[in-house]
Amino acid sequence: MLVDSHCHIHDQDTYEYVVSRVQGKYKPNPNDYTPEKLLARAHENGIEKLICIGTSHEDSIKACEFAARHENVFWSYGIHPDEAGSNWQMEGFLPEELPVAIGEIGLDYRNGTTNKEAQFKLLEQMLQLATDHNLPCIFHIREAFDDFFAVLRNFPGLKRAVVHSFSDSSDNLEKCLNEGFYIGVNGLSTFADIPIPPLERALLETDSPFLAPVPHRGEVDEPAFVKNVANFLAIHYQTTFEDVAKITTDNAERLFDI
Ligand SMILES: [Zn+2]
Repeated sequence: MLVDSHCHIHDQDTYEYVVSRVQGKYKPNPNDYTPEKLLARAHENGIEKLICIGTSHEDSIKACEFAARHENVFWSYGIHPDEAGSNWQMEGFLPEELPVAIGEIGLDYRNGTTNKEAQFKLLEQMLQLATDHNLPCIFHIREAFDDFFAVLRNFPGLKRAVVHSFSDSSDNLEKCLNEGFYIGVNGLSTFADIPIPPLERALLETDSPFLAPVPHRGEVDEPAFVKNVANFLAIHYQTTFEDVAKITTDNAERLFDI
């Protein structure tokens, strides 16, 4: 059994957008990419548990509702750093049924750094939320690790987290591991030259519909392709697929209590 610890299959708008952008030989049929069909193909491929990741208040509620209708589909509540500065309510927005994590949250400086203050403020509010509810975090950090570690210093009690889609230096990987964090490995590792975490700290994910792994490059990513990421790790560590499946599944179950 495998876990996709980070997917966006509940977010039909994003799926439709990505599906519509694919041209040429991989041109997909939009009808094959409904949340239900994506979930069915995940199950056929041995992916038994999935976490649908919230990126805004509204999107998190969608993830919550989708998870409520399906066994072994879980959800997270998060406001992505790209949303920093937009209007959203802090009070009483978590549904009664708590998410398995707070995320994706973090800092993202890829589009410039003019809204750093708003990103800090949002991240701190989200970290406070995780602390108040004793929930793990799912971090999205791009070109912002120094500031990220600085913000973390204000939350010394926060120990349970995954840095999703890690794509930074070995130095920063080491620092994340020293914090006790797990590292999310997805299709990116199968085609980009990035540091790979030890299996004991790796979580499998897709970030679907983005970042389809080898040999599905150019296609729309989906949770079923988590098995290709597992295969990549098995080859990388010269171990068996079953070994990777067991260790990474244990990791996800432990971190998210699923
Ligand atoms: Zn994501």
